Amino acid sequence: MDIQYSQPFERCQPKWRGVVDSSLAAAARVLWRSRCVLCHRPGAPSADLCEPCERDLLFNTDYCRICAQPLAENAGQSRVCGGCVRKQPLFDASFVPYRYAYPLDRMIQRLKYGNDLSSGRVLGQCFYQRLIVARTARLPEALLPVPLGIQRFRKRGYNQAIELARHVAKRSGIPLRMDIVARIRETQEQASLPREERRKNVKGAFALIKPLAYAHIAILDDVVTTGTTVNEIARVLRRAGAETIEVWAIARAGRR
Ligand SMILES: [Zn+2]
Ligand SMILES: [Zn+2]
Repeated sequence: MDIQYSQPFERCQPKWRGVVDSSLAAAARVLWRSRCVLCHRPGAPSADLCEPCERDLLFNTDYCRICAQPLAENAGQSRVCGGCVRKQPLFDASFVPYRYAYPLDRMIQRLKYGNDLSSGRVLGQCFYQRLIVARTARLPEALLPVPLGIQRFRKRGYNQAIELARHVAKRSGIPLRMDIVARIRETQEQASLPREERRKNVKGAFALIKPLAYAHIAILDDVVTTGTTVNEIARVLRRAGAETIEVWAIARAGRR
């Protein structure tokens, strides 16, 4: 902390200046010391997660390159899961750096149901860190967060996918586009439905509202489970002429 003293103070109390400075700086450290968003222990300055909590995050390292489903060790070189071999989704690839497991699931639940937007910032930071470390392929030209229905948006007050995407876009410089695809009818929350019901629930739920000006685009969501919602958005983008469609999400949950 850089403290500006008045001239009289400077002249009359020079020997106390260092003591005052260091005391104020120590008080500032105590008052504004950052705390871990998960365990609330004091963390390093400007860090949102303490080191032990960060170490507990489970990476999704070996996954299907199309749908991000974790693969068995003997999955072979193709890195495509059995589900995608049987029926390839309408998107081309996924980048999902974490598994939906403790303690990351707590941050996602707080962001989704707890009105805790700071969790969105931390999740965005985590995603971006993994993007720098683990991503080698060309980046998409735009990020498209999964749109929320109007009713759910009004109830929640924000869209968790946008909150996450905002931080990723800001750090990566990739444009954030929320004006290309809209949810044109209300749907039930996918997490409450079995796989077959999920497909019916989102069928025809999205529409293009602006001509697509990008060949390579990433749909961004918080968690991907069966990929049914993002697949339905990919259908709209593909019809609009997208050549490469990726799915980006912070975490991959197990299929039900
Ligand atoms: Zn912690
Ligand atoms: Zn797959």
